[in-house]
Amino acid sequence: MNDFILSASGLTKTYKQRSGRFGFGSNLIKALDDVSIALKPGATLAVVGESGSGKSTLARCLLQLQPLDAGQVLFEGHDLAALSGQELRAARRHLQMVFQDPFASLNPRMKVGDIVGEGLVIHGLGDAEERRAKVLRMLERVGLSALDMGKYPHEFSGGQRQRIGIARALVLEPRVVVCDEPVSALDVSIQAQILLLLKQLQREMGLSYLFISHDLRVVRHIADEVAVMQRGRVVEQGSVEGLYAHPREEYTQNLLNSIPGRHWQAA
Ligand code: ADP
Ligand code: MG
Repeated sequence: MNDFILSASGLTKTYKQRSGRFGFGSNLIKALDDVSIALKPGATLAVVGESGSGKSTLARCLLQLQPLDAGQVLFEGHDLAALSGQELRAARRHLQMVFQDPFASLNPRMKVGDIVGEGLVIHGLGDAEERRAKVLRMLERVGLSALDMGKYPHEFSGGQRQRIGIARALVLEPRVVVCDEPVSALDVSIQAQILLLLKQLQREMGLSYLFISHDLRVVRHIADEVAVMQRGRVVEQGSVEGLYAHPREEYTQNLLNSIPGRHWQAA
């Protein structure tokens, strides 16, 4: 159990959705149905599945950004739901998230230096000068510069904005980073650069990643293990190479077959 930095068992989450002509009826959507996953320190666990399979719900529930109906999340052996408000806030520093849409997730009215430094202020880390130095170092590590601190998000390309999103998460020196489709909104040519950057920072900073994607191509280059989600359940789990070579589930085979050019690579 303690071999894992983050583990979750029996996660269940149901949404109630209004339905019917006047919204009087309601549908229940089981977004998570008894999901268990475990993340090894320094490793990358990918979660793949088609749109609507529950991946983002899993991300939010793992980080306690959304309440669960049932299940338990352990971070370094501690039950997150059992922590006091103050303890949870302290744990949050070590559990960061990188989002899919780097434009929607960056406040357009804040300068990049303030966006990246906000978490340091919230967690009371360092004085103003130390924070500025940390922000600058982090921006340089993601390929940006001191000049960029005074700019606004709209002045950057999609790939650069995602670098800002990564800097904002990593400046806190977290232990676990949940990346929810971090390259899905980017051009294919930019995707590889961002994946390389994430990999390099993982190695340098000893990070553990939960990497969410609907695209098995992306996952192959970054993950050690893969969990395949379908309709709120984990239907298959294993090493990347094993899953590529011998997908057990038809659903996983279909995900693999939807990769362009994949049939030429087989055998
Ligand atoms: P994914 O990230 O894999 O696309 P989500 O976790 O976003 O999947 O969604 C899983 C299911 O839960 C979908 O059917 C989605 O429509 C539904 N869902 C997600 N968020 C909400 C919400 N806030 N209210 C109602 N239904 C939701
Ligand atoms: Mg999603």
